[in-house]
Amino acid sequence: MSEGRFGAHGGQYVPETLMNAVTELEAAYAKYKNDPEFVSELTELFNGYANRPSPLYYAGKMTEDLGGAKVYLKREDMNFTGSHKINNVLGQVLLAKKMGKTRVIAETGAGQHGVATATAAALFGMECEIFMGRTDTERQALNVYKMRLLGAKVHAVDSGTATLKDAVSETMREWTKRISDTHYVLGSVMGPHPFPTIVRDFQSVISREIKAQLYEKEGRLPDAVIACVGGGSNAMGAFYHFIDDKSVRLVGCEAAGRGADTFETAATITTGKPGIFHGMKSYFCQDEYGQIAPVYSISAGLDYPGIGPEHAWLHDTGRAEYVPVTDDEAVGAFEYLSKTEGIIPAIESAHALAHAIAIAPKMSRDKIIVVNISGRGDKDCAAIARYRGEDIYD
Ligand SMILES: *Cc1c(COP(=O)(O)O)cnc(C)c1O
Repeated sequence: MSEGRFGAHGGQYVPETLMNAVTELEAAYAKYKNDPEFVSELTELFNGYANRPSPLYYAGKMTEDLGGAKVYLKREDMNFTGSHKINNVLGQVLLAKKMGKTRVIAETGAGQHGVATATAAALFGMECEIFMGRTDTERQALNVYKMRLLGAKVHAVDSGTATLKDAVSETMREWTKRISDTHYVLGSVMGPHPFPTIVRDFQSVISREIKAQLYEKEGRLPDAVIACVGGGSNAMGAFYHFIDDKSVRLVGCEAAGRGADTFETAATITTGKPGIFHGMKSYFCQDEYGQIAPVYSISAGLDYPGIGPEHAWLHDTGRAEYVPVTDDEAVGAFEYLSKTEGIIPAIESAHALAHAIAIAPKMSRDKIIVVNISGRGDKDCAAIARYRGEDIYD
């Protein structure tokens, strides 16, 4: 697709001051993406540092209990730093180093992307500054501590709702102030071209591995791949190498919060309209005046009012389906996987699991579902306990 367009979506809607930065990034990525030395260094980081390949685990007890399709879990929660975020971060920070940059900046919501970026910056000896909504710094204080421990400077953002969207806006603003030595490590398949393509390519290792691992175990393609969608990077990574395999259903699970028919939701495809924000054309949750609407989800990682442009296009063409999953359904799935398989998933990933739990029993036993477990759930235990009326800290 030319110039970062995915059908009507994508593009480069940035202020003039950022055009040089995105053009420089585009040229550098074109130069390095197939460079044998870059590819081998990144593979070494994936395998030697991030603990790849992540296992494709047959969830036997869950399959037995649901009594339908076989369920496999792609264990991105087993990656170093606990989620799929590290795949993209290692790729981008390596690219930034090749570009001669000495400083990286990034936004973060729950703190997973901030921690992954601070980790890679420590490894590469780069200066690192993270922007995080003040509300999120309070909800995820442990991750703030980790970022500081890793040597990053953390800025609490007070504008707007003081959450993820405001952190993205602030990081873009910071980038315009200091481009020459600084790379913006964007955390999802969003923002201006070339970010949606770069992030998708680095995350596509997920579907490349799923395909090979499932061939080894079952000798065939899955019938469905299910992933949660915030900006959409773990889902794009899990879908990418299956897009041309038309027999594989691709299902993205959006955070419906208290319900897609309430004002407390973050289900972008279900409730959003086309618009332009954060440098891209895509679908966004908007109010009656076309302003970006405040969004809500129990999951800080899915609490974003937009979706990456490639997902918007997969939706328009009907290649992928997008379904809303409520807080309540996700919390149920979080508890279910913990009790059934002994795996505590991220509350984000639990949105994808909830959908698998709903559809597996309706599918025959010879069908195969793969659920992407995008991260581990340790970070969520306090919030889920609180949701159930327990307070584990006070
Ligand atoms: C950040 C995050 C997400 C949401 O981001 P995507 O770009 O949509 O993947 C999902 N799961 C986990 C564990 C995360 O940390």
